[in-house]
Amino acid sequence: MIKKSRKVRDYKALTKALPTLRYLDPEYVYIHLYNARAKTYDLFVKEGDYVKVGEKIGVRHGGFFEQPIHSTVSGYVGKIMKKFHRTGRKVDVIEIRNDFKDLYHESITDRPDYVIEQLSQDDMVEIIKDKALVGLGGSGFPSYIKLGTKDPIHTVVINAVECEPYLSSDYRLILEHPNRVVTGLKYIMQALNAEKGIIAIKSEKDPLYEILTQVLKVRFPELNIEVAKLGNHYPQGWEIEVFKYALGIEIPHGVLPTKFGVIGFNVSTCVGIFDAIKHNLPVIKRHFTLTGDAINFPQNIRLRVGTSVRDLIKLSDGFKEGVKEVNVIMGGPMMGVSATSDDIIVSKTTTSVIILENTEYVEEPCVRCGSCVYSCPVSIEPVQIMNAVKRGDKDVMRGLEAYKCIECGLCAYVCTSKIHVTDYVRKAKKLIG
Ligand code: SF4
Ligand code: SF4
Repeated sequence: MIKKSRKVRDYKALTKALPTLRYLDPEYVYIHLYNARAKTYDLFVKEGDYVKVGEKIGVRHGGFFEQPIHSTVSGYVGKIMKKFHRTGRKVDVIEIRNDFKDLYHESITDRPDYVIEQLSQDDMVEIIKDKALVGLGGSGFPSYIKLGTKDPIHTVVINAVECEPYLSSDYRLILEHPNRVVTGLKYIMQALNAEKGIIAIKSEKDPLYEILTQVLKVRFPELNIEVAKLGNHYPQGWEIEVFKYALGIEIPHGVLPTKFGVIGFNVSTCVGIFDAIKHNLPVIKRHFTLTGDAINFPQNIRLRVGTSVRDLIKLSDGFKEGVKEVNVIMGGPMMGVSATSDDIIVSKTTTSVIILENTEYVEEPCVRCGSCVYSCPVSIEPVQIMNAVKRGDKDVMRGLEAYKCIECGLCAYVCTSKIHVTDYVRKAKKLIG
C-alpha cells in the first residue's frame, strides 16, 4: 500500500506552551573555532587572558570570507579542546570560564533610531559582517552576503514556519519578542529598499497571527507588512515551499530567489539582524529547544552560545527513570543528525537537541511500495537512487537528479520497510559532488 505523506506527527506540545527558560550563566562556554564554511582560524587571545562579552577573540577563514569569533561571556580564556558540533563531528572549541560579571565589551553600544534611519544597505552589510551573523535556522550561510544582494528586491519574507516536529523555539521567540521580529524585518526592508514584508507562519499557529497583527497595527502602522498563514504540511518551512505558498512564485532548482525579486530570512536571523543593527551585538544568546521523551522536563531555553547540552540536560532534571539508552538528535528529527554523545556544544546555528529513548528498528527489504517516491517534495525517486548507490552507479545517481534532494527526511519517515532511504540519497549527493 502506498503511504503518501507530507504530514508528520508533531510533538511540539511538549514545549510549546511553556515560557522560555533563561539559562544565561553556565560556568564554562566553549566557542567553536571553525565550521563547515570556515575551516581555519586565528586566535587573538591565549590561555589566562581576560575577555568581555561580545569581544572579538579570533577570526575564522572561509573560502571567500572571514568571520570574527566573539566571546559570549566575560571571564578567563582556557584551553583549546575538542567537542561535538551540530553536524555530529568533533571540532576545536576554546573554553572560557565565566566570571559571572557579564561585562560587555566597549564596542557593544546602542545605535540611536535617527542614526539607523540613515543607514544604507552597505552600512548594514558592514555591521552584520562585523558581528559574524549567519543563517540561524541552521543554514549557517553568512547573512551579510545575502543582505548585500544587488538584485532588486520587492518583497522580504521572514520564514517563521518551523515545520520540523518537536521544535518550538521560533514559536516562543515570536510570542515573547514580536517587536524585535518586526523591527528586524523593517531594517531588512530598509537595506533592500523593499516595498513589502511578509512574516510566514504555519496556519495552526493562531496565537502568533493574533500577536503579530496586533503589534503591526498598533506599533508599526506605517509598514507594509502582512502575516501569511501557510500550510501545516512538511516541509512547508523549506524556503522554496514558503515562496510558493506565500507569494505564488515557483523558484526553479538552482535559481536564486533574488532573481524573482524576493528574499527570505529565518525568523531567528531576522532577530539577529535587529540585535546587530540596534545594539551592535553579535549572536551572544539564542533560543533553543531541548526536548524528547527521554528527559524529564523538555523546554525552550534562552542560552549563551557555547553552552554545553550536558549542562542543559542537568537543568532539565536529567533522563527519565528507567531510560537505559538514548538517541541524541542534533537539529530536528527529520533533518537533524544523530550524535553518539550528549557532550555537544550549542553553536549559533544549533536550533535544538532531541533526546529520545533508543528504539532499535530492523530494516526489512524494499517492497517497492513507492511511498518514498510519492512523498518526495522535489519529485525525485529515492528508491532508485538508493539502488544506484548500492551498485555504485554515479551516472544513474546524476541521471536521477539526486543533487536536488533537500534532505528533508520524508522518504525515510514513510518507508514501509523502515529503510534509512535519506542516508542513501545523502550519500549519492556526496558521491556525485
Ligand atoms: S529524496 Fe531527499 S528531498 Fe526527497 S524525500 Fe528523500 S530526503 Fe526528502
Ligand atoms: S524504499 Fe521503502 S518506501 Fe521506498 S519503495 Fe522501498 S519500501 Fe517503499
